[in-house]
Amino acid sequence: MTMEASNTRWLDYAPAPESTSILHLKKSYGLFIDGDFVAGSGRSFTTISPADEHSIAEIASADAGDVDRAVAAARKAYNSTWSKLGGADRGKYLYRIARLVQERARELAVAESLDNGKPIKESRDVDVPLVAAWFFYYAGWADKLEHAGLGPNPRALGVAAQVIPWNFPLLMLAWKIAPALAAGNTVVIKPAETTPLSALIFAEILQQADLPNGVVNIITGAGETGSLLVNHPDVNKVAFTGSTAVGRAIAKSTAGTGKKLTLELGGKAANIVFDDAPIDQAIEGIVNGIFFNQGHVCCAGSRLLVQENIETEVVDRLKERLVTLRMGDPLDKNTDIGAINSRAQLDRIRALSDIGEEEGATRWSAPCEIPAKGFWFAPTIFTGVETSHRIAREEIFGPVLSVLTFRTPAEAIAKANNTPYGLSAGIWSDKGSKVLAVADKLRAGVIWANTFNKFDPSSPFGGYKESGYGREGGRHGLAAYLTNAVLQSGANK
Ligand code: NAD
Repeated sequence: MTMEASNTRWLDYAPAPESTSILHLKKSYGLFIDGDFVAGSGRSFTTISPADEHSIAEIASADAGDVDRAVAAARKAYNSTWSKLGGADRGKYLYRIARLVQERARELAVAESLDNGKPIKESRDVDVPLVAAWFFYYAGWADKLEHAGLGPNPRALGVAAQVIPWNFPLLMLAWKIAPALAAGNTVVIKPAETTPLSALIFAEILQQADLPNGVVNIITGAGETGSLLVNHPDVNKVAFTGSTAVGRAIAKSTAGTGKKLTLELGGKAANIVFDDAPIDQAIEGIVNGIFFNQGHVCCAGSRLLVQENIETEVVDRLKERLVTLRMGDPLDKNTDIGAINSRAQLDRIRALSDIGEEEGATRWSAPCEIPAKGFWFAPTIFTGVETSHRIAREEIFGPVLSVLTFRTPAEAIAKANNTPYGLSAGIWSDKGSKVLAVADKLRAGVIWANTFNKFDPSSPFGGYKESGYGREGGRHGLAAYLTNAVLQSGANK
């Protein structure tokens, strides 16, 4: 199904669905502990396709005993194998994993789109290539830790407990596992309960790569499993990506335990468009900023700050562009906007959007046909948004853009910083000096100029304030997994 501006579109795309025949899914998946799939003792659950709610596979759930076993396997692997290997040998495994990800790229992309609901063109062209890039990048560092500018004799921390969200399931796994292994740690990781599939296929890749048993353990389950993992007494490092509320709970429960902690949490980024911006590019950047991955992006440009004198032009052109976006089957190569990942997330997007209207903002949604099954939300713009509105303050984590205006750079900066978050921001202007001056005053970990949502493994990523602390990517990402690392990775100034 496609979005139609009117009946006048006489040239349309034929459906181009990616085949699922490349997938060799099992009916049920166990936990990946000590190099093998084993049964879980918790209550298993079904992972479904958010596009049509069909069941994909039965997934095991780890209880306290399973978490113990996984941590013990990681500890044993750390003591007996991984900590004894030289960096060059660790690097070889990472290179091998990167190449296997490339070899199985199509399969991984199809699995990701099926389980997550994201368009195949994104999982194929963004998620999976970045996963491989992350492993290649950190493979290169594994034998060069002494030269990473992290101080003399950097050492691994031990066992890392890692918990990740559902919006970029495999990419978040790569962000966690690649630097941890390069730095010499072993890992127990828990994917999100709505998107475990690509992590379980990744477990098969680890077997193919002959990674020594126990170096990476993948346990599935919901928040309770995550909590058991991060609070396990025998882990040395906790790395969490997810909501600010859960991050706060983890910060409390790990305080005073000696565990090193990094938190990558929510965001409410400002995408600032000045009247001298290249408008064509800015329109594409605004669309990419908030509608990429259905807006399920922690660093999404969910607040458009547009200079008042060009607001009407920008909003009109945005609407024209949104009408051309194709919403529908995530596995169709023409699809721009896929499904919302879960019913719970859809309910949250709906509730906050209704509140936006109740608080007085004006809502516009792209006209599109909502399929009868699955979880869908049309790309939506709110105008007349005030800084006090909840849709300007809270993370909606969906395809919803709040438009605010400003008159001067100082006002743009004040409004952009008027948020409890501090993860990312975008600036659109023809003048480099203006971009630099504004960027200097923004309280955000990542700032894009005349572009948005661009990621690279060599570039550190992370936030300020309630967006968390610590950095992933680059040398900063390594520092988070090493003792004696002089380069501070967690500056939360
Ligand atoms: P969530 O916090 O509900 O869940 C994230 C993960 O934590 C899941 O695996 C979940 O099972 C687990 N979990 C839940 N309760 C837990 C607990 N008490 N202890 C330990 N683990 C627990 O978040 P979500 O809804 O899955 O993800 C969306 C959030 O993630 C958004 O706020 C988004 O901004 C954030 N996010 C941040 C980044 C970043 O890099 N800053 C990247 C992606 C997503």
